[in-house]
Amino acid sequence: MDQSAIDRLRDEPVGKQGLWIGGKSLPAASGAVLDVVSPIDGRTIGAIPDAGPEDVDRAVAAARAAFEKGSWSRAAPAERKKVLLRLADLIERNALELAVLGVRDNGTEIGMAYKAEPLSAAGTFRYYAEAIDKVYGEIAPTKPDVLGLIHREPLGVVGAIVPWNFPMMIGAWKAAPALAAGNSVVLKPAEIASLTLLRLAELAAEAGVPEGVFNVVTGRGGVAGEALGLSMDVDAIAFTGSGPVGRRLLEYSARSNLKRVHLELGGKSPNIVFADAPDLDRAAKVSAFGIFRNSGQVCVAGSRLLVQASIHDRFMEKLVAVTERMKVGDPLDLGTDSGAVSSAEQLAKNLGHVADAEREGARLVSGGRRLLEETGGFYMEPTIFEGVKPSMRLSREEVFGPVLAVTRFEDEADAVRLANSTVYGLASAVWTSDLGRAHRMVRAIRAGVVHVNTYGGADVTVPLGGFGQSGFGRDKSLHAFDKYTDLRTAWIALT
Ligand code: NAP
Repeated sequence: MDQSAIDRLRDEPVGKQGLWIGGKSLPAASGAVLDVVSPIDGRTIGAIPDAGPEDVDRAVAAARAAFEKGSWSRAAPAERKKVLLRLADLIERNALELAVLGVRDNGTEIGMAYKAEPLSAAGTFRYYAEAIDKVYGEIAPTKPDVLGLIHREPLGVVGAIVPWNFPMMIGAWKAAPALAAGNSVVLKPAEIASLTLLRLAELAAEAGVPEGVFNVVTGRGGVAGEALGLSMDVDAIAFTGSGPVGRRLLEYSARSNLKRVHLELGGKSPNIVFADAPDLDRAAKVSAFGIFRNSGQVCVAGSRLLVQASIHDRFMEKLVAVTERMKVGDPLDLGTDSGAVSSAEQLAKNLGHVADAEREGARLVSGGRRLLEETGGFYMEPTIFEGVKPSMRLSREEVFGPVLAVTRFEDEADAVRLANSTVYGLASAVWTSDLGRAHRMVRAIRAGVVHVNTYGGADVTVPLGGFGQSGFGRDKSLHAFDKYTDLRTAWIALT
């Protein structure tokens, strides 16, 4: 990746996009569109359809018809594998174009976006494509006069609803296992990060995914997302996003057809640094990047830093030094460490958290302000508060921005108590040289992921998902197939 190649793509026309339904690009039935505003400079760069319930119904009907036709759902797994491997290749071949398009849409710094979006999505499609012809049904250990067979089958139509941070990566976490298993998919991107997923649909068609098997419906969550959640013909919803919307999806399911709902929600993840951490400089650097990359808009971000009292001041000096060296700015510049906040609304929310933390008595030790306002874009300083009490809003609520809450602890029991004093349970980390302590902490912290002496980077081979109000269901790994398949028993008399 070189800067001149990025610069050649940064002003490519985006134009007026279409919904992707039944293998065709179509306007919304109402003709309505939503502007695409780039967080880089606040300018409108294109438009996406503002789908209504009738458009969602059309997409669901196309998905159902394709499922019933069987050219995908009943194809040999090895056939689906070939197509999805071609899709992975196409994503890779178009990786830079996709990465730049995505950055213009949501502001993630290009160095991160290139790997975490197209390249990770390609890897995810490849992983599930490769896996699907190696997943078998079962023969149950029955009495000899019967045969108990357990078939694993696709569900039918899967609705995937994804957020604006890492739309391709998260879209692939859902679409790849769902499609590999033989389902049809209707995907609803976030209205502020739809462009790469519309392009993904075109690439899927080019790879040979049959018409109607993969559909993308853009629009507002409360309209298009709600219609998908309430559809009587969607068999499961795979959702990543905020807790309040997750709760609505459960309600929609109860009010409609009891579709399965899988929720991957937010977090307030503790990052715990013990005095015996193997390398405090590295711990400081990884901790800073573990919260501030992508302007803190990472579900697993280590947003609560717990530091043992005996090293607190020394560690904070290192952390602040690394943080203040981070370059915030144009996300299409390869030298940028942290790009733009995704929208003006999110920036206002972040600054509201800063004001509340100051009011509640936390000490601001770095950052706290908007940056680069003259560009028209949405940028914010990486921000650190220390002396944050568990009762304060900054300890309890997810900011989803570049704001770190630091709290000191005395000993292991205190660290566990503070780590678990949250309704969330998505990710966490422990920095220690003591192997016994590392294993004790892995068991004691209530979180779906516990990092030891690192933060982030867990690949597609391991599950990601939360405990408590971080949701349920797991993305990634072979376990994700459980969300998109059903078990059918055949009980066969042999006499
Ligand atoms: P969000 O507001 O909950 O939106 C997520 C998706 O739901 C978007 O596509 C949104 O569409 C849609 N939506 C909104 N209202 C809806 C409704 N009433 N019915 C159906 N769908 C609706 O979340 P976000 O702000 O995009 O993303 C940030 C959140 O996602 C954070 O909490 C973050 O922690 C979480 N997250 C979790 C993970 C994980 O793996 N656990 C990963 C990434 C992010 P619109 O955008 O059009 O409103």
